Amino acid sequence: MEFLRPRGLTEALEAKSANADAVPIAGGTDVMVELNFARRRPPALLDLSDVAELTGWSVVGDRLRVGAGVTYAELTGERWGKAGNALGDGNSAELGRRLPGLAIAARTVGSPQIRNRGTIGGNLGSASPAGDCHPSLLAAAAEVEVVSVRGSRMIGIDEFFTGVKRNALASDELVAAVWIRQPTGPEQFAKIGTRNAMVIAVAAFALALHPDRASVGTGIGSAAPTPVRAADAETFLAGALDEAGLWESRGPLPDSVVAEFGSLVSAAARPIDDVRGTAAYRRHSLGILAKRTLTWAWQDYRGGVGGLWAGRRS
Ligand SMILES: Cc1cc2nc3c(=O)[nH]c(=O)nc-3n(C[C@H](O)[C@H](O)[C@H](O)COP(=O)(O)OP(=O)(O)OC[C@H]3O[C@@H](n4cnc5c(N)ncnc54)[C@H](O)[C@@H]3O)c2cc1C
Repeated sequence: MEFLRPRGLTEALEAKSANADAVPIAGGTDVMVELNFARRRPPALLDLSDVAELTGWSVVGDRLRVGAGVTYAELTGERWGKAGNALGDGNSAELGRRLPGLAIAARTVGSPQIRNRGTIGGNLGSASPAGDCHPSLLAAAAEVEVVSVRGSRMIGIDEFFTGVKRNALASDELVAAVWIRQPTGPEQFAKIGTRNAMVIAVAAFALALHPDRASVGTGIGSAAPTPVRAADAETFLAGALDEAGLWESRGPLPDSVVAEFGSLVSAAARPIDDVRGTAAYRRHSLGILAKRTLTWAWQDYRGGVGGLWAGRRS
């Protein structure tokens, strides 16, 4: 097996163009499992670890550009010392503060070792229905910037996942970054697994409230062939909040609204029975996750967290 080590993005794109079957490797937390279990034997690996252009994040206008090589530890603000103690990291703590939904999701991923190596670009590359970044990216209506020797293009996150572990990348393309509008309202994420840590989601749900545009974003994980949104639940909740003037008043959410939101999220799933859970359990748990995350997000919006999001709606 060839091991290609480009020193920058231009070299990486040329190598991918010349070797369409070369498998990119970033943190390697998915790729190495596949190689070790002999599920895949590509002719070449394309090592992205020296491609500086894929790392880091920046603010561009009202959006954040998060490089494909940004790790979960960077999203959560964790950094682990040699003794296994968590160290702070000012820059990435700031990233997690700016993208709370993604940071909550990142905190649930694997172990410290996996969070140190695993990247957001690798999660998108694998495109697993259980990938923990995906629900939050759907809820935030993110865009994926992809690049090749032919140029770059943006793919809406709704169009990115094309099937089970399939994505919209062409064979010569790499994920360069993810673009996310800076949140103007609370974001939440919750996942259910067969144990509390180091677990692939049996079902996951992300919610984002967008008070600036009076809309709601959702994302469902592990309960359909691809990560999906609960479009009817989004429309229902945004309408209910508008009709009752709740975006402005920040009054309590009627129980009936929370219950209907949970039912609509549950109905949006297309789950299967598998070793991790039954379709019925997935549907049921999604309804619960939806109601919980809505309750937390609404508490947050009402000013529970130091009046955050105050005056965000124009
Ligand atoms: C023990 C363990 C626990 C885990 N727990 C979780 C979990 O809780 N939640 C979760 O979501 N995942 C989990 N994972 C899976 C994995 O850690 C994540 O999917 C991670 O985001 C993969 O990132 P990576 O950088 O390691 O990707 P890699 O393994 O390097 O690559 C993954 C895929 O993406 C492609 N790729 C990587 N970078 C790019 C790029 N820039 N452009 C195009 N393609 C690219 C690769 O070719 C490959 O197909 C776990 C894995 C292990 C081994």
